[in-house]
Amino acid sequence: MGVVVQKFGGSSVKDAESVMEAARKAIRAKHAGNSVIVVVSAQGSTTDDLIAKAAEITSEPSAREMDMLLATGEQISIALTAMAIQELGERAVSFTGPQVGIVTDSTHRKARIKKIDTQRLCEALDSGHIVVLAGFQGIDEQGDISTLGRGGSDTTAVAVAAAVKLAGYEVECEIYTDVDGVYTTDPRIVPDARKMDAISYDEMLEMASMGAGVMHSRSIEFAKKFDVPLMVRNAKSDAVGTWIMPEAPWMSEIPACGVALAADESRLLLEGVPDRPGVSHRIFAALADANIAVDMIAQSVGIGGKATIGFTVLNTELDRTKKILGPIVGELGATLNETGKVSKVSVVGAGMRAISGVAERMFQALAAEGVNLKMITTGDIKISVLVEEDGAAESAVIEPGPAEPIKKAHLESKKAVRGRRALRAVHAAFALAQPRKGAGAQPAAHGEFKPRLVPLVLPAKTEREAAIARLAGMEDVLVSGVQLNNEQSRITIYDLPDQPGNCSKVFNAVATGGILVDMIVQNQSGPAKAELSFTVPRADLTRALKRTQDVVREIDPGCRVVGDGDISVLFVLGVGMRTHTGVAKTMFGALAAKGINIAMINTSEVCVGVVVERARGEEALACLTEAFKLG
Ligand code: ADP
Ligand code: ASP
Ligand code: MG
Repeated sequence: MGVVVQKFGGSSVKDAESVMEAARKAIRAKHAGNSVIVVVSAQGSTTDDLIAKAAEITSEPSAREMDMLLATGEQISIALTAMAIQELGERAVSFTGPQVGIVTDSTHRKARIKKIDTQRLCEALDSGHIVVLAGFQGIDEQGDISTLGRGGSDTTAVAVAAAVKLAGYEVECEIYTDVDGVYTTDPRIVPDARKMDAISYDEMLEMASMGAGVMHSRSIEFAKKFDVPLMVRNAKSDAVGTWIMPEAPWMSEIPACGVALAADESRLLLEGVPDRPGVSHRIFAALADANIAVDMIAQSVGIGGKATIGFTVLNTELDRTKKILGPIVGELGATLNETGKVSKVSVVGAGMRAISGVAERMFQALAAEGVNLKMITTGDIKISVLVEEDGAAESAVIEPGPAEPIKKAHLESKKAVRGRRALRAVHAAFALAQPRKGAGAQPAAHGEFKPRLVPLVLPAKTEREAAIARLAGMEDVLVSGVQLNNEQSRITIYDLPDQPGNCSKVFNAVATGGILVDMIVQNQSGPAKAELSFTVPRADLTRALKRTQDVVREIDPGCRVVGDGDISVLFVLGVGMRTHTGVAKTMFGALAAKGINIAMINTSEVCVGVVVERARGEEALACLTEAFKLG
């Protein structure tokens, strides 16, 4: 017998009518022969309202008490949903997270799930009840109530599905929300965004992690790790939604499946940092220890062996970040500068691994809009740029308001005027509003994208499964492999004038030579100057260098271009590597301990890439293999 987990978000249980509709969906799934678990969020804006209530009392509520408060929102929903199911004549029983043993760590307000004891839950299912479970909450090992972070009910749903799967059931998970599925970008910002029929786990993980609020990114980590088929769909209709599934061959033919905007991050610049092994480790280990996830990291080496390190953190973490880095910066003789509001625009697509010219097309679209790129980083299937949001006049542009009551995050993103404009430009540049395979081009064949329901294979056989089996906690980061690539080389442009269009010119010149650019990092290196580094296949270095030199000469004869064929690129592969702060710390720490300098770094949820000098490539491979216990 199969288990269907149905998750209903806040807007899908916002009032009695919506709760009844959710109850009907659950009953229908039950009558179709499934066991059903319903996971619900707090009604409508309840969580925001509870946060506001706390703010009336104190500006610094304790995290433990906040969790005690916030968990009540979901408790209202489970009781009402169970009553609704009973009212419609089916058996239902509601449980809070603690009641079914969702055990988390003690990081209040962003706790991670360690284990789920499915016994009570499975007994209730086996006795024919529809189980209604509170999303977003758990209990720590001291017995205190915890919450998983905003949007965390998605994670509860998928984690429970994974736990039930591990208990031997076949399982499928449906995420009901207020849109028809996952769109090429947020349909509230870009009205002609297109609904996708299917998207891979990795693509969704990057989209969610880069700002696509439709799914909590941590839920996709569970889906990928435990191979849980997921569908995002509309709570108000029966329309087929979007499958989030293992990568299918056709996905790698599409350069960009979607674009995302994050308007809640701040950029920090550490200037005058001594350029020696171990310094990055000091900085990022301190942040990792405080559980602060650092995004876009870019380091550029300026004059006299002093580097500039740029990175972004969530606005909500800005004060803590500054507090933690203050003493370290003093010790290093560096300065820490905050550079104002920024928006991050990312393009995501599995096809990027093998299709050239994606970066070039993105940068060209942004150049045409006059958007200046303050920072660029790439991952294996995404490219992110940072856009400054300081134009006061432009902020006054009035945009049409959404019809529905909206969450705070959406209100905040309304301010990201430049980011929104950049997002629209990139969406248009990749023709994402047009139908294509996987997004409306072949709508007929019902179930075409239906992923297989994987029969449970225990014990773990493959490398990945073995790595999962070794995890102490369900939500622990999964690092499944380290690879060394000696076939890449690096080009660096120093003192590139910080103006719209320059990156576009460089990558246009390289792309028209058919050269596949892999990692890209651009960072500010001084006032109105940027440093741009990228890797190309070693066989293409001479050609790429010539093309770069030619185009850079036209931009500014004062820029220096340097090619380096003596590099090694190391890739650490896994799931959830950006958001689990320990990964960067372990990597930086292991390399620093051996005195190996990191020349370039790229982080994404599924792959962290670092460039080191070639002579030390093998040593770096061995040291990372050991650090991540992969030997
Ligand atoms: P729920 O309360 O059901 O969890 P959320 O508000 O968390 O709902 O997520 C749904 C919202 O996510 C949509 O209303 C939409 O505005 C936003 N969103 C952002 N990016 C995307 C995207 N790529 N596809 C679909 N929706 C998106
Ligand atoms: N109620 C929580 C929130 O608003 C969790 C969720 O909706 O997923 O963030
Ligand atoms: Mg949500």
